[in-house]
Amino acid sequence: MTRITPQPGIMRIAPYQGGASHVAGVADVVKLSSNENPFGAPEAAREAVRRSARDLHRYPSTDHGALRTAIGDVHGLDPARLVCGVGSDEILHLLCQAYAGPGDEVIHTEHGFAIYRIGALAAGATPVEVPETRRTTDVDAILAACTPATRLVFIANPNNPTGTMIAPDEVRRLADGLPEAALLVLDAAYIEYVEGHDGGAALVEGRDNVVMTRTFSKIYGLGGLRVGWGYAPAHVVDVLNRIRGPFNLSTPALAAAEAAVRDADWLARCRDANTRMRAWLAEALAAHGVPSDPSHGNFILARLGDRAEAEACDDYLKSQGLIVRRVAGYNLPDCLRITVGDEAACRRVAHAVGQFRDGAR
Ligand SMILES: *Cc1c(COP(=O)(O)O)cnc(C)c1O
Repeated sequence: MTRITPQPGIMRIAPYQGGASHVAGVADVVKLSSNENPFGAPEAAREAVRRSARDLHRYPSTDHGALRTAIGDVHGLDPARLVCGVGSDEILHLLCQAYAGPGDEVIHTEHGFAIYRIGALAAGATPVEVPETRRTTDVDAILAACTPATRLVFIANPNNPTGTMIAPDEVRRLADGLPEAALLVLDAAYIEYVEGHDGGAALVEGRDNVVMTRTFSKIYGLGGLRVGWGYAPAHVVDVLNRIRGPFNLSTPALAAAEAAVRDADWLARCRDANTRMRAWLAEALAAHGVPSDPSHGNFILARLGDRAEAEACDDYLKSQGLIVRRVAGYNLPDCLRITVGDEAACRRVAHAVGQFRDGAR
């Protein structure tokens, strides 16, 4: 028997389950399980990757200066307060590593993103799950759950997998009400799908206890390259830069992200297509007796009658080559999360759900 054991907390982590991408025996498969952009990556980003192939023998930038400048230009943010990571997942993990340890508490919500709990446990801290109200972040419940041991509070706004969102004044009330030793992390992975919203950037600027995280994995279609960023008070940026790997982002990833963030047309086109097809899909599912909350992301949380029906629906969709996401692990056993695909994919999924509901099962 080995005496080699990991740090306490690590064996309590349930390994993250990614969205499936294959169905045995089905050729024409549509993957709607990972909230990926149905239009892929912008051509400018693909071209930047091709160009970066010349320099693969060189170490990448350690300070991500060009990418931070581009993000700062496009979003009107101070590049000195930006920190880039291997997906926003890395930023979330670094925040846990830096600010939470044994005896500390990390708050996440009932249907919050899995990485918050994983990051807390990996750091040896105690995750604290707070109830939501009708699948929506409840600021009063979070404030009531705060203790002197609270170090981090994670909310995603819009949230995944619920798609719901809370208003800016509610987010501000949360930031105002936190204990002095706690940092609020606003995960804005889907904020580009909400027109005219800053994701909390202005809130970050006015205070020293709020961090916003963003990603290139969703609307920018670069999930395979792993690039995310955080906008944070100077004291937090300084801390994260001390612990992150000096070469955490590869040259092709940096180049692609820089090209993507400068492509404003891409953003507008993808957001408009998503808004249109999301409304269409929600209505089509509702017409088949499958309701959903108004979603602000690039996915819909479809509510079936119960767990058995959700699983049967998922099995039927799979048999039709449609891969969606089961979300029982997010305390939503009666739901399926369906990424908003292109028009053909949305039509296929709506048709299949209709067949399922009409008794094709
Ligand atoms: C997809 C997603 C992320 C982004 O993860 P990356 O590591 O940037 O790919 C972050 N938060 C939430 C809630 C997400 O759904």
